[in-house]
Amino acid sequence: MALNPYEIRKDFPILNRRINGYPLVYFDNAATSQRPIQVIETIKKFYENFNANIHRGMHTLSQEASDMPVAHRDKVENPINDQEEEVIFVRNTTEAINFVACTWALENIDKGEEIVITRMEHHSNILPWRIVSRIKKAKLKVANISPTGILDYKNLYELVTEKTKLVAVVHVSNVLGTINDLGKIAKIAREVGARLLVDGAQSVPHMPVDVKKIGADFLAFSGHKMLGPTGIGVLFIKKEVEEEIEPFFGGGGTISDVDCREKRCSVEWAPIPLRFEAGTPNIAGAIGLAAAVDYLEKASMEAVRSHEEKLTKVALEELENIKGVTVYGPKDAENRAGIVTFNVESLHPHEVASFLDQYGIAVRSGHHCALPLHRVLGALDGTVRASFYLYNTVEEVEFFAEKLKELISKFSIS
Ligand code: PMP
Repeated sequence: MALNPYEIRKDFPILNRRINGYPLVYFDNAATSQRPIQVIETIKKFYENFNANIHRGMHTLSQEASDMPVAHRDKVENPINDQEEEVIFVRNTTEAINFVACTWALENIDKGEEIVITRMEHHSNILPWRIVSRIKKAKLKVANISPTGILDYKNLYELVTEKTKLVAVVHVSNVLGTINDLGKIAKIAREVGARLLVDGAQSVPHMPVDVKKIGADFLAFSGHKMLGPTGIGVLFIKKEVEEEIEPFFGGGGTISDVDCREKRCSVEWAPIPLRFEAGTPNIAGAIGLAAAVDYLEKASMEAVRSHEEKLTKVALEELENIKGVTVYGPKDAENRAGIVTFNVESLHPHEVASFLDQYGIAVRSGHHCALPLHRVLGALDGTVRASFYLYNTVEEVEFFAEKLKELISKFSIS
C-alpha cells in the first residue's frame, strides 16, 4: 500500500519548524534523517525507567538492561533480512568499514594482493582501504564510472584478478543516487574468491535489502540515516567470515577468560558477536534504532522505496526543464534512489544552497565526502544535493523547483 506522507509527517515534531519564516523543507536526508516521536519517546522511556550498565550487574535494573541489546539486535537484522544473528553494533557506517579494515583485512590481505573499489565511493569506503594497502603493501584499484554515473562493470571485471581479496562497493551512491547491481558485482568477486563488502548507508534506510540475495560478506549501515539515533550503526558479517576475524578492540565484555599468570596474558574470547563489541555499548542507541526499524517496517520498505521513486521522478522532470541546471547521475527514477544532485550554471553550490535556505529548504552543497567522484563529474567546486525520505511530499519538490527557477531568473542565467 502507498504510504501517506501527510500522516507520517505528524510523527516528526521537527517538521513543524519554520526556517526563515517558511515551513522547513528537509531535503538533507542523505546526510541524516529526522526522528519520529516513537523513537524519541523510546529513548526517553529507557533513560527514565531502565537505565543501567549491561553484562555486569546482578541487580534487576542491570538484568533488564542486559536483555535489551539482545532483543534489539534481532530487530536490526530485519531490514537486511539476516536471520542468523550475524550483526554487530558499531557507531556508524564509517566505523563498520574501518572495523573490517582493522580486523579481517589486516589479517587476510598480504603484500601484492589487491583491494578493488569504485570511483563513486564515499571517503569512508576509500580511506580505510588506503590505510590497509599502505600497511600491507597491497594494491588499491579503482573501477571507473561513466559520465552519467553508472559503474563500468566491464572495467571492474578487468580489474578484479586472482590477486583480489576484497571488492568494496557502495550500494547506492550518496551523490548520484545510482543503484549498483550487486548481483553482478558479487558474481565478479566470487569468480576469484574475493570477499564483497557493501556500503549500505544509502540503501538500507530507503529500500528492501536482502543480504543473502546480494551475496555480501560484509554490509554496513548507519542508524541516524534511517530514523534512528546518532552513534549507532550496524555491521553484518557473514557467519563463515566471522570465524576469520580476530578481535581488534579488546576490552570489557569481549572475553570468557583472561589469565595473566604467564608473561603474555592468554585470552579466551567471548562468543561472537560479544567479542567484537568492546566496552559499554550504546544501549540507548540500539533501543532507539530498533524503534526506528519498527517504524520503517510499519510503513513498509517497499512503500518507502516507491514513494521516493515518485518524488525523484517529479524532481528529475522539473529540474531537466530548467535551463541552466545540470543534473548528475542516471536519467530515470527507477534506476536511482531518492537523491538528486545538480549544479546551477555560473553559481557556486553554496550560493544555491544559501538561496534555498532563505525559503526554509535544506539541501546540502559541497563534495558530500566523495572527491574522486566529483573529479569525474568535473565539479570540483562541489554540487548541490536534494535527498528525500518518506515524510517528503510532491508539493515540497514543486516548491523547491519553483524557487530554483526564481533563482535562475534573478541571475538571468542562460
Ligand atoms: N557511505 C555513504 C554512501 C554515505 O552516504 C555515508 C554518509 N554520508 C557514509 C558512508 C558514512 O556514514 P556515517 O557518517 O554514518 O559513518
